[in-house]
Amino acid sequence: MAKTKKGEDKDMGKVAIYPGSFDPITYGHIDVVERALEIFDKVIVAIAVNEEKRPLFSVEERLHMVKAFFKDTPKVIVDSFKGLLVDYVAKTNAIVILRGLRATSDFEYEFHMASMNRSLDTHLDTLFMMTSKDYFFVSSRTIKEVARLGGGVEGLVPDLVVRRLKEKFKLPVTKKKHIRWDD
Ligand code: ADP
Repeated sequence: MAKTKKGEDKDMGKVAIYPGSFDPITYGHIDVVERALEIFDKVIVAIAVNEEKRPLFSVEERLHMVKAFFKDTPKVIVDSFKGLLVDYVAKTNAIVILRGLRATSDFEYEFHMASMNRSLDTHLDTLFMMTSKDYFFVSSRTIKEVARLGGGVEGLVPDLVVRRLKEKFKLPVTKKKHIRWDD
């Protein structure tokens, strides 16, 4: 019987693992997943449980939002993990870690993480996918900042995320009022 290589499971095919905070998921992340599905048979979106980062959304809330978006895409598996990424990857049959790059500022951090993961597990490679022109400015952090101040993030995150952000920040629906300097 032909031996299958790690990550080339007969049933699952080629698997990539996309780890991140996804606090919350944005269309920038989704775009990376959708493009990766043209190369891989399955993508595992792995939500990191890292309370030190003080996430806005609990891991359950983040899991729910990602699962809801990909509910009709069986090629996407959504999971969460604690601890070292390399330990989690070893429990799956993924061949590659998938990450996205938006700007040169992402590069340094990503380069260090990829190098560290490589030193922890010499077989594990990281594949970087360049952001697309529509989402290069989209990050979970800026989405939260804008939403907290009442700005619209529609079109940058799924509708469910828009609703959850509004609930989190308990945004009142106010009428626009012009500032009058002579008041
Ligand atoms: P982390 O906290 O681990 O950086 P994030 O959820 O912020 O997790 O991001 C996960 C990955 O997705 C990172 O590699 C990040 O660079 C990438 N990413 C985030 N937003 C975008 C985007 N708009 N376009 C492409 N990649 C992105």
